[in-house]
Amino acid sequence: MEYPMYSLQDVIRCDLCETPVPPKHCDICHIHLCEVCVGKHLSDESKDHYIVPFKLREIISKCTKHSTEVCKKFCTKCNIPVCPLCVASSEHKQHKKEDILTLFETKRKLMQTDLQDLEKSIYPKYQEVATNIPVQRADVNKHSQKLTTALDKQGEALHTEIDTIIQGMKSEIDDMDAQHIAALDQQEVAINRTIPEITKTILDLKRLLERLQDKLDTSDVCLVSEYTSRTEEFRSLPAQFQVTLPIFTPKEINREQIHQQIGSLSELAITYPLLDKPRILTDIQTDSRGSIALRSVSCLSDSELWTCGNGHILRLYNLQGELLRSVQTKSGNVPWDIAVTRSGDLASGPPTLRFSQI
Ligand SMILES: [Zn+2]
Ligand SMILES: [Zn+2]
Ligand SMILES: [Zn+2]
Ligand SMILES: [Zn+2]
Repeated sequence: MEYPMYSLQDVIRCDLCETPVPPKHCDICHIHLCEVCVGKHLSDESKDHYIVPFKLREIISKCTKHSTEVCKKFCTKCNIPVCPLCVASSEHKQHKKEDILTLFETKRKLMQTDLQDLEKSIYPKYQEVATNIPVQRADVNKHSQKLTTALDKQGEALHTEIDTIIQGMKSEIDDMDAQHIAALDQQEVAINRTIPEITKTILDLKRLLERLQDKLDTSDVCLVSEYTSRTEEFRSLPAQFQVTLPIFTPKEINREQIHQQIGSLSELAITYPLLDKPRILTDIQTDSRGSIALRSVSCLSDSELWTCGNGHILRLYNLQGELLRSVQTKSGNVPWDIAVTRSGDLASGPPTLRFSQI
């Protein structure tokens, strides 16, 4: 027990038989009692008794309203101790009353199991989640780095592909260039070869014609006879060609197509698994009851909801069951159903589906 520092005289004893360390106490007579003497004490029926465990002595008190009475019960609604007269009074008639000792024991046990539950089960779970969060945060970073690297790699591959194609087209241009130059060279050679022949022919013809203006003799007749014309030969120029130059037609760059070529990135999805069993958070007493049945419910937020019954009043409650607002339908009609829009406007019907800014 808990009195090791007391001297022998100070040891608490049963007030009736002097047995040390009595386990009980009469909280009305204010005496300590051993187990044996409890019965003896209770047999004194001249007054009220209230036997409590020693540790719970002084748990009951005189009623502040009725000075002759002690409060053995507790009104849980008013959160005060009550005496038998209080219990009988109209004030606490509808209220739930409990025996103080029972209440104390029940609550103490609840606290003990709660403490155990919190320490052994709930707190470790929270801690586990808490220590896991930095790890998960690091994972987020790792994953996004992986994505970025893969994206960079794909970008580089696409760049390389584009560079290769451009390089290929440039060498096609070089080839065509060489072909064109070769054709021109060939033409130049042919022309340059013919030009001196034409010049010589012109000179020869001039000399001959000059000579024929003077007195002619037999040798001249021979010369004239020998002359053959090369004009037709020279008239067609050598190796004339036509050329169609290459053109580059750039295609309009379509970002969407390039994007498709690179690939797609799926979206992040965060989902919370549904509970195996629905958990009741609270019960709300609405004003729609009895013959006025609750007809429809629509959530404004996680903690506020609009309701309608078969009256023409719509009511907004919070999860604590407090009525926050009530509005009448403008038409005076009873709504069959209601819904809340994302911006918090209220829709109701019929006959008309009516949106109201609330
Ligand atoms: Zn005793
Ligand atoms: Zn007593
Ligand atoms: Zn009282
Ligand atoms: Zn009460």
